Amino acid sequence: MTTPHIPPDWAFEFHGHLCPFMPIGYRMGKLALAHLGVEREQDHGFFIFPELGEGHPQTCMMDGIQAATGATYGKVLMAKTFYGKLAATFYHPQQGAVRFALKPDFIDAMGKFEFFSYRKRGVEPSQIPAAVANEVVQWMYDQPDEALFKVEPLPDFTYAPVKGSFNKTKCSECGEYVFERYVRMKNGQPVCIPCSEHGK
Ligand SMILES: [Zn+2]
Ligand SMILES: [Zn+2]
Repeated sequence: MTTPHIPPDWAFEFHGHLCPFMPIGYRMGKLALAHLGVEREQDHGFFIFPELGEGHPQTCMMDGIQAATGATYGKVLMAKTFYGKLAATFYHPQQGAVRFALKPDFIDAMGKFEFFSYRKRGVEPSQIPAAVANEVVQWMYDQPDEALFKVEPLPDFTYAPVKGSFNKTKCSECGEYVFERYVRMKNGQPVCIPCSEHGK
C-alpha cells in the first residue's frame, strides 16, 4: 500500500522549512495511529518514544510525528531514548505498542537525491531550491509504505507515566512556585532546585 499522508500546510508552517524528514515522521505517525486503531490524541493518553538522538539531522521527523499524532513534547507525551536510530515506539495503554523503523535501503536510496548533496555542503533546508526539495519529498510520497517502514508489534511493552499533581509550594528563598516532586529541603525549609544548589 502507498498511503503518503501528506502533511497539512500548518504542519509545514510549524516545522519551518520543506524537507523530507518532517513528512516522513508525519506519515509514520499516521500509520502508527492506524495500526493501533487510535485517533489523534487530544489529551494525555498516547505516548511516543523516538529513538533519535542529537547531532544528526533527521530529528525533523519528530515534528512530523507530533503533528500527526497530537502526542506532543509540550504535553510530555514524547521522550527520546537517544539511541541514535531512525525509529520510534508508539504506545497506547489500551491498544498496545508498535515500533516503526526506517529501512536502511530506503535511507540509502533517498540519500542519493540532490537535496542531500546540498545538506552535506552545509546548506540549510530553507536555502535549498524548492524544486530540489520537492523532488525528494514527492519521491518519498510515491514509495509504498513497506519500502519505508519496518513495523513490529511490541506485545510486552509497558510504560507508566508519572502521576500528575497540581500540588505546589513556594520556595522559601526565591519565593517562586515549585511543583511538589521538585521541592528540596534546605535547613528544614522547602526550596526549589536552583536555590538548593547555591549557598549552604
Ligand atoms: Zn526539516
Ligand atoms: Zn528558589
